[in-house]
Amino acid sequence: MQELGGDPALAQRIYQGLWQGGARTVDELPDVGAAWRSALRNAAFVSMLEPDLVLASDDGTRKYLWRLEDGHRIESVLIPDGDRLTLCMSSQVGCAMACTFCLTGDLGLKRQLKASEIANQPLQVGLQLAREDGRRITNLVLMGMGEPLHNLPNLIPALTNCLHDLGMNFSHRRVTVSTVGLVHKMVELAEALPVNLAVSVNATTEAQRRQIMPITRKHSLAKLIEAMERFPLPNNKRITIEYVMIAGFNDSLDDAARLFELLERVRAKVNLIPYNENPDRDLRTPPHDRVKAFQHYLVSRGLSCSIRTTRGTDISAACGQLGKARQQATEHGWLSDARRVAGFAPFPTS
Ligand code: SAH
Repeated sequence: MQELGGDPALAQRIYQGLWQGGARTVDELPDVGAAWRSALRNAAFVSMLEPDLVLASDDGTRKYLWRLEDGHRIESVLIPDGDRLTLCMSSQVGCAMACTFCLTGDLGLKRQLKASEIANQPLQVGLQLAREDGRRITNLVLMGMGEPLHNLPNLIPALTNCLHDLGMNFSHRRVTVSTVGLVHKMVELAEALPVNLAVSVNATTEAQRRQIMPITRKHSLAKLIEAMERFPLPNNKRITIEYVMIAGFNDSLDDAARLFELLERVRAKVNLIPYNENPDRDLRTPPHDRVKAFQHYLVSRGLSCSIRTTRGTDISAACGQLGKARQQATEHGWLSDARRVAGFAPFPTS
């Protein structure tokens, strides 16, 4: 607006019109004069994600499949849980990290999402919920497709719009960025924004982690732990340690003991994620009592540890299952039955 010679008050109206009012075009912006509208039309455009498919799970979880301008597709997952309504967002088309247990990894990295494509996910889901039944998204997690810290230049402006009080106005306490552990980028994120950090640790020895997370060859587990120890955390915050539990691989009490030792000097809370099985992998979820025993080991030593409940299994919306929505929907006949949320359009189409 400065370049165009506009004043801050007008810039603010436009910003709010977009991020709070949900204007889809320059013409839908409220309180903007005709001359300014035409100047804006020449200088900029409003881009929106196109909803391709929305699947509803029996447990209330929803998966949104978006079509991007160049035909690529990404997914977001909306997870109701008590008084929370969490949106799990994607940061990339595919992912370059190639964690062996994760289906998104199979896609490889197709491209980075633009800042607008990241911020559009909560914007459009939020506007649709507001019209549908007045519910509001309470939490954002960057745990969908992609490695968010591998797309930091676009992630930062996207999250800035999520947090801004004239924008979507999410509290930084309710926004969490999850990473495989790109150590130097963790600090960069912390310097830019006060959001929560989650790290997918997933293993307790170098060899074990290298086996499932190739990034360990570049950043060793030891370096990752050291980076977490030094991470500039505000007083009341802790790093969430994600730990995917795979039967017979990393689910023993020896693993629990090693994990406890690794985290001794990290201000951490652990979130155990029982592996979500899928036909493409020969990996199994540990029996529940094994997960409980692992949790008990940590908790009884004073480390906070929760178990993530799997949600949206029937629509392949669970952790590590994203990337094949359209194919899965076709195979299951979901394109025609009730799981498809009828008539979804983030904005009235008329
Ligand atoms: N790239 C980021 C964001 C993805 S988050 C990261 O790795 O943290 C997705 C989370 O789901 C990660 O903790 C990942 O380890 C976990 N995950 C991937 N596949 C899974 C599966 N099949 N079952 C359970 N968790 C899985």
